[in-house]
Amino acid sequence: MAKILIVEDEEKIARFVELELTHEGYEVDKVTDGRAGVEQALAGDYDLILLDVLLPQLNGMEVLRRIRRESDVPVIMLTARDAVMDKVAGLDAGADDYITKPFAIEELLARIRVALKRRETTPQTGEAAPDPNHHVLSIKGVTLDVEQHEVRVGNDPIELTNREFEVLKALMENRNVVMSRDRLVQLACGYDFVGETNIIDVYIRHLRAKIDDQYDIKLITTVRGVGYVIREG
Ligand code: CA
Repeated sequence: MAKILIVEDEEKIARFVELELTHEGYEVDKVTDGRAGVEQALAGDYDLILLDVLLPQLNGMEVLRRIRRESDVPVIMLTARDAVMDKVAGLDAGADDYITKPFAIEELLARIRVALKRRETTPQTGEAAPDPNHHVLSIKGVTLDVEQHEVRVGNDPIELTNREFEVLKALMENRNVVMSRDRLVQLACGYDFVGETNIIDVYIRHLRAKIDDQYDIKLITTVRGVGYVIREG
């Protein structure tokens, strides 16, 4: 059964979640500060980490950054705050999902199942066999290699976060089709994503800063009141 680490300083929440997860058959460890969270997360062989944002010693964002330097274990952030920017920061720093406290345990369990399943179905990097259907999208000098998870403008590699990559991929795959924020959220964040669709505006802003502004091209067009489109030519 999957092994889960809880990093949460609020004893009541930590214990409640531990009980529920144990009841579901998960193997559970918990630690109560950020520093211990990093150590335990990297030392133990966990399938998933539940990570509180507000923690003593090291805050959750910093814990996440340190974990991500060495590990791609799925991380679900537990956030008390409801600001979109917090969620974006967490997702950009490599969180797989977040859940706002207070949460219903059923919702948390559902998120955990999704994150674990996604991991099962994601091929581990480095082991993938050469793919005969190697899939490269190209438009206006921007190329996106689906399998290599690589974006280039000309020969310059562009560093994108996962979600930025998914938004760009959705737009490039659906070139000339105006995509609503809802649709982009579904494609980039998954159908189970529960959050404001204006999170897409943030990713678009990042993509424009990294591509349009840097290379003086007009890649992504805003269609007011509808969404976004990448038009050919
Ligand atoms: Ca806390």
